[in-house]
Amino acid sequence: MVEYVPGIPILKPYIDADNKAYWDAVKEEKFVVQQCNKCKNYYQPPRPMCPECLTLDTMEFVPSTGKGEVYSYIIYTTDKMAYPAMKIPYAVMVVEMEEGVRITANNAPDIDTDEIYIGMPVEVTFAKIDDDLTLYQFKKRKS
Ligand SMILES: [Zn+2]
Repeated sequence: MVEYVPGIPILKPYIDADNKAYWDAVKEEKFVVQQCNKCKNYYQPPRPMCPECLTLDTMEFVPSTGKGEVYSYIIYTTDKMAYPAMKIPYAVMVVEMEEGVRITANNAPDIDTDEIYIGMPVEVTFAKIDDDLTLYQFKKRKS
């Protein structure tokens, strides 16, 4: 379960022209991935140019299923390496989405760190931190 320590700022994503639409969607609790509308490949993190087509005008954000499987993870169990705003234990999970891209996020409150395994089916959920910040996390997948 991820819990935050009051009074310590949470690291916020760096938002620029390439990822603003991505984070705007997250703020509205919608999860999108970037896709090239020419070659149809999906990419993460957001970028201005398709590395396959080498064009600047083909990248767009499309809805994701929000579903994936744990590809890798680390569990923070001591405060020596953990971020101080996070109560330990917590996990940082790399999830391979159905679109094939890999997304990094924390475990949602419904997943205890000792339950996580490679291949675990998960899906995106959202945590509204404050009026300016909504983050995505991964919760247990029901289907
Ligand atoms: Zn392309």
